[in-house]
Amino acid sequence: MPILILHAPLAGWCAPLEEVPDPVFAGHMLGDGIAIDPTCSIVIAPCDGEVTSVPTGGHAVSIRTTDGIDVLIHVGIDTVQLRGRGFETLVRPGEQVRTGDELLRFDLDVVARTAKSLMTPIVVTPAPGVQILKRHAPGPIRAGEALLELSYRLPVATPASICAQSVSRILPVPFRHGLHARPAALLVQRLGTFSAQVTLSSHGKSASARSVVALLGLGVQHGDDITITASGADATAALEALIAGFQDVLKLESNTPPDPHAVPAEARSVSAGTPLSRAAAASAGVPPLTGIVAVSGFAVGPAVRIAREEIAVVEAGQGVAHESSELQRAQGCVRARLSRMAISDDTTRRDIVATHLAFLDDPVLNEGAREEIAAGKSAAFAWRAASRRSIAALAMLDDARLRERGDDLLDIESHVLLALGGDVRPLKLSLPEHAVLVADDLLPSELVALDRQRVAAICLGGGGPTSHVAILAAAMDVPMLVGIGPAIRDVPEAALLIVDAEQGWLHVAPPAALVVDSKARIAANRARRLGARAAALRECRTRDGTRIEVFANLGSVADAETAVASGAEGCGLLRTEFLFIDRETAPEEAEQLEVYQRVATALGGRPLVLRLMDVGGDKPLKYLPLPTEENPALGLRGIRTALWRPDLLRTQLRAALRVKPEGVVRILLPMITDVAEVQAVLAILEELRVTLGGRAPVTIGAMIETPAAALMAERIAAAVDFLSIGSNDLTQYALAMDRGHPQLARRSDALHPAVLKLIAATAGAADGKTVAVCGGMAADPAAVPLLVGFGVRELSVVPAAIPALKEQIRTLVTADCASLAVRALKLGSAEEVRALVAQDMQTREGAP
Ligand code: PEP
Ligand code: MG
Repeated sequence: MPILILHAPLAGWCAPLEEVPDPVFAGHMLGDGIAIDPTCSIVIAPCDGEVTSVPTGGHAVSIRTTDGIDVLIHVGIDTVQLRGRGFETLVRPGEQVRTGDELLRFDLDVVARTAKSLMTPIVVTPAPGVQILKRHAPGPIRAGEALLELSYRLPVATPASICAQSVSRILPVPFRHGLHARPAALLVQRLGTFSAQVTLSSHGKSASARSVVALLGLGVQHGDDITITASGADATAALEALIAGFQDVLKLESNTPPDPHAVPAEARSVSAGTPLSRAAAASAGVPPLTGIVAVSGFAVGPAVRIAREEIAVVEAGQGVAHESSELQRAQGCVRARLSRMAISDDTTRRDIVATHLAFLDDPVLNEGAREEIAAGKSAAFAWRAASRRSIAALAMLDDARLRERGDDLLDIESHVLLALGGDVRPLKLSLPEHAVLVADDLLPSELVALDRQRVAAICLGGGGPTSHVAILAAAMDVPMLVGIGPAIRDVPEAALLIVDAEQGWLHVAPPAALVVDSKARIAANRARRLGARAAALRECRTRDGTRIEVFANLGSVADAETAVASGAEGCGLLRTEFLFIDRETAPEEAEQLEVYQRVATALGGRPLVLRLMDVGGDKPLKYLPLPTEENPALGLRGIRTALWRPDLLRTQLRAALRVKPEGVVRILLPMITDVAEVQAVLAILEELRVTLGGRAPVTIGAMIETPAAALMAERIAAAVDFLSIGSNDLTQYALAMDRGHPQLARRSDALHPAVLKLIAATAGAADGKTVAVCGGMAADPAAVPLLVGFGVRELSVVPAAIPALKEQIRTLVTADCASLAVRALKLGSAEEVRALVAQDMQTREGAP
C-alpha cells in the first residue's frame, strides 16, 4: 500500500488532536490528525498537491494530493471569527504546491491575543483505506519535520473527491429527534454568509442545507448517516461551520429537558385519583374513543366543531412583476408580525416563531412560488402550490415529528394568503363555556386567537404530541388529545364530552354517573391548583423574613391579568415598545394613555413600572428613520433615541402622567449611561407635571443596563428613586457579546463573575434605594440566591415564572445568600459560579 509522509507545516509544540480545545477537532468530526501549537507564523505545505480551498478569512488551507488525500491545516481555534484579521494568504484554490511551499502567514501576536487558542489542527479527511501509521511524539517540532505517516489504497475513494474544490463528511445524526425543525433552522442559520453550496444527503435523497423545508424532507432520524458536501471558495469553512452547528444543537438539547410531550400516553404515570374506567363507559354501550395525550388534564364540556374554510385564491396572475412584488409585500407583513411576536418572554412561543420565520424565507418554498408566478399564476396561488408540495413531501415521511411540521407550513401559508388579501376568518370565535374543541387539526395561530377562558380541552383527529400547537396548548394549560383518527368526525356538535387526557380517552355522550364522577375529579384538581396559586398570591419572604417583592414583566395588556392571577405584586417592567413598533405612525397620547390605563386597571392598584420606549438599535421604527449605524446596539437606542426625539418622549411622558390613580405609574428610563441623561428627562417631566395641573411627583427609576451605569450607580441612584438592573443588556455590554448571537448564546451568561461584579457594585452603591432586577436572570433559579445575597429586593419575571420563584425565595436565608454571593464573586467563570450554586443547593437539600 502506498505511504504518504506529511511534514510539519509549522514549528512549535506537537500535541495529540484530542488536546485541541474544540470538540469538532478533538472529537475527530473533521477527521484524524495531530495538532501543533505554533511558535512561528508561516504555514508551509505538508505535502505536494493542489490547494482545494482557502476560506475567505485566510485562516485555513486544504490541500489534495494527486492520490486524492485531503489535508486540512486550520490555524488556531475559532479564528474564523477574526474575519481575516492578522492573516495573509499566499496561495489560491486550484494552485499546485510542493512540500515546503509557503501557504499563508499570520501575525502570531494578533492571533494569540484574539483567538480562543493558537493550537493548529492538521487533519486528514477520512476515506476508506486511509490510515495513520505514525505520529510525531508530543513535544517540540521543527517546520518540515516528518509529522504523520499514512497508508492508503489506490484510488482513494474519498467522499471529498466528488468534484473539484468540494469537501464532504459523513456523520451519524446525533440529535435526539433526528433532523427536525429546530436543528434544521439552526444549521441553516450557521451557513449564514458563506457562499459555498452545501448539500446534505441521506436515504438516497439530497437537500440544500439552506432550506429547512428541504432538510426536513430528508426524513433523517437519530443515528442515520448523513453526508454533508460543500463546494465553492469557502467550502471548508462552510463545512466546519455546519459541523459546529451540530455541536450547537447538541448543547441546546443537553440544556433542554426531555420533552414531556414525546412520552406516549401509556408510558405516562397516571395522576392521583381513580381513573375513569373504560369498562364503565363501555358498559353504558358507548366505548370511549382513544387518543394520544398531548397535554395532560381532565375536562367536561360540549363539543364545538372547528372546521377551517379553505382561503379562496384566484389562480391567474396579473403579470410576473406585479405578483412577485405582491408576494414580497405579503411576506414582509407576515415577517413583521412574526418578529413582533418574537419579542416575548415566552421561550416556547419564541422558538415556534423562529421556525415559522425560517419557513417564510425558505429558499425551496420561495423558489417553488417563483416558478408558479413565472408560469402565470397569482402570488396567492403560487405560494399555496409551493407550500402544499412541501407539506405533501413531509406527509410521506416515517417520522411523526417531521410530519407534524406540515401544520406549521400550513400556518405560514394561511398567514401569507391572508396578507395577500384573503379574508376568511378560519375559526369560530364565540365559544360556549367549557368548550371542547373537536377538529381534524388546529394551527398554532388559530389556537392563540381563541378565547382561552372558554376552552376546556382540545381533541384532534390528527396532529401529534410534539406539534407546535400541542406545545402552545401546554403553555396555555389546555388539556389536549391528538391522533384520535377519523372517528373524531362522528362526534356530534354540542354533544357532552369527557376528555380524559390522563388515560387518553374521549367519552362521547357519557352516562350521567360518569359525568358526576368526572366533575368531582375536576373540582378536586381545581382545589389543588388553587392551593398552589394561593401560595403564589401571598407576599413573599425569605425563611428569615426578608421581604422580596416579585413583579411581572409585561409586553401587552392581556399579560397583565395573567400576571395578577399568577401572583404578581405589580409590573416591574412594561415594555412599552410593543405600542410603537410595526406601524406607520407613532401612537398618539390618547392611544398610549388608553393602553397604559388598561394595564394599570388590570393590575388593580398594584405598581406599574412603565419603561419608556426602548426603541432604536435592534428595534427600528418605520416613522423614525435613524441614521444608518454600523453598530446599532451601540448607537441611538433607549433613552438616547428618546432624547434625540423629545417630541415622542414628551407624548409618552404625558400619557404616563395621566394614568389613574396618580402615583400608580413609576417611570423607568432605559439604557442610561450617565446622570445627565436622567436629569434631562427629569427636567421635561417636571415641566409636564406642572402643565398637567401639578400632579404628584412621580417615582422615577433608572435601568442599569450598561457597565457605565453600573459603575456610576451611586450618582445615578442619588438622582432617582430606584434602580432596575436589565441583566440582558448588562450581560451583552459587559461581555461584549451580542445577546442574539447564536454562536455566543451559551457564553453570554449573566452569571459570569464580571456581570455579577457590576450587579454587586450597583446594589452596594444604591444607598438605601430599591434595587430590582428585571432581566431574564431574575427567573434563573441559579441566579436568585446570588441576587438576594447582593441585596436585590425586587425581582421582575415573566408571569408564568412567578409561583416557582416565590416558592424558591421562601426556602432562602439572606445571610447564606450573602456568603454565597461573596464566594461567587471570587470565581473565574460562569460555569464555576453555576457549579458553586448547584453544590450549595445540594448541600442545603441534604441538610436536616
Ligand atoms: C434587559 O436588558 O435586561 C431588559 C430587561 O430590557 P430588554 O430585555 O427589553 O432590553
Ligand atoms: Mg434592555
